[in-house]
Amino acid sequence: MTRPDLRPAAPTHGSAAGFDYLVVGAGFAGSVLAERLASVLGQRVLLVDKRPHIGGNAYDRHDDAGLLVHPYGPHIFHTNSEDIFQYLSQFTRWRPYQHRVLASVDGQLLPMPINLDTINRLYGLNLSSFEVEGFLASLAEKKDEIRTSEDVVVGKIGRELYNKFFRGYTRKQWGLDPSELDASVTSRVPTRTNRDDRYFADHFQAMPLHGYTRMFERMLAHPNIKVMLNTDYRDIVGLLPWKHMIYTGPIDDFFDCRFGKLPYRSLQFEHVNLPQEQFQPVGTVNYPNDYGYTRISEFKHITGQRHPTTSVVYEYPCAEGDPYYPVPRPENAQLYKRYEAEAEKLPNVTFVGRLATYRYYNMDQVVGQALAAFRKLQAAHSAAERSIQVARQRAQSAEA
Ligand code: FAD
Ligand code: UDP
Repeated sequence: MTRPDLRPAAPTHGSAAGFDYLVVGAGFAGSVLAERLASVLGQRVLLVDKRPHIGGNAYDRHDDAGLLVHPYGPHIFHTNSEDIFQYLSQFTRWRPYQHRVLASVDGQLLPMPINLDTINRLYGLNLSSFEVEGFLASLAEKKDEIRTSEDVVVGKIGRELYNKFFRGYTRKQWGLDPSELDASVTSRVPTRTNRDDRYFADHFQAMPLHGYTRMFERMLAHPNIKVMLNTDYRDIVGLLPWKHMIYTGPIDDFFDCRFGKLPYRSLQFEHVNLPQEQFQPVGTVNYPNDYGYTRISEFKHITGQRHPTTSVVYEYPCAEGDPYYPVPRPENAQLYKRYEAEAEKLPNVTFVGRLATYRYYNMDQVVGQALAAFRKLQAAHSAAERSIQVARQRAQSAEA
């Protein structure tokens, strides 16, 4: 397919049918920008998504049994940013929720991230916090440089724990050995010497009370926002007038992969409803060493819903399919830079979000990135308005 012509189809000034902004993608990145541009700047926004729903990968819905599920895998909201939490709180109330994860290792279900209890139960010990610190230090391999995802873990807790908890999971999840991935990937999971068994340590941890989709509906319920679903932007980009595009899809796709495909890791989700009240003791159980799936998540833990049956999702990583994860490694960062340089040449397109900026971002980070992009656009609007005013004043004084 050839590149769409990014010029608007017709001049928009004074056109009632025209849009100021064409926003591509109704996930967090696109929806936050649509909301800000419409509510704060009074801009007319057309938001398109090729999927049949809003919310991007955070979309949730009720399954046939009536359980609220996340079709694209479990999404747990957590952030340290009060600003981001307050911003989203305009559109939802929250249900406090602290996610807990167990890893199936050596026939036991053990707390993940690795903590004091993980070590004591794995090795049949009774160490204190202080002692476990020394224990892990004795296992750690000395590393001069922490470059890869293997270095991070082996340098902190040694090869045996790395092999039990990280190596297999990472190879399954990414189709790569941890030694081939940036340190940032396994650095997402800390090691603790206390008994804290929460997956995240952020200050704010909560789920939207009525789900993500309801929250997105409220964000987008503005008379200046028109939402078009089941629409690839390429099919309409030259047909409707717009002045500026916000693009949140994969960046390589935008440029027709002219420098080659940027790898994005995909997943296949297997959703199952079971005729029992509970399937597993916590929200997620990780399987680092067995099976084709990486983890099973049970939604009732996450949503707090009560129901006589339960719904779970299995995640099977794969290379082909919808793009879900950028793959953090040096050669991909280099390729991304080439696309980023092309993106910078387009003053009327802003690239935002996990796929468009090729960053392994959580939801809150995408919201933060979108709010920052909005502030830039807002500053540009104010500057444009000021120069129009100055020009008007000059014209008036010339007339006088
Ligand atoms: P997306 O949600 O991917 O939205 C991009 C949208 O653009 C999509 O809806 C897509 O259909 C649309 N699009 C693409 N191309 C086109 C086109 N040509 N035309 C029209 N539309 C197009 N984050 C957390 O904070 N906590 C979690 O627990 C968590 N769990 C996750 C679990 C999984 C399995 C995955 C994959 C991600 C998880 N995340 C989690 C990350 C979270 O999903 C992302 O940070 C966030 O959803 C990214 O939002 P986005 O708007 O950048 O992208
Ligand atoms: N990871 C692992 N074992 C685990 C959990 C995580 O090896 O039990 C590694 C794996 O490489 C994974 C990364 O740490 O991709 C980040 O984990 P996280 O749970 O943050 O992944 P996400 O929820 O984004 O899929």
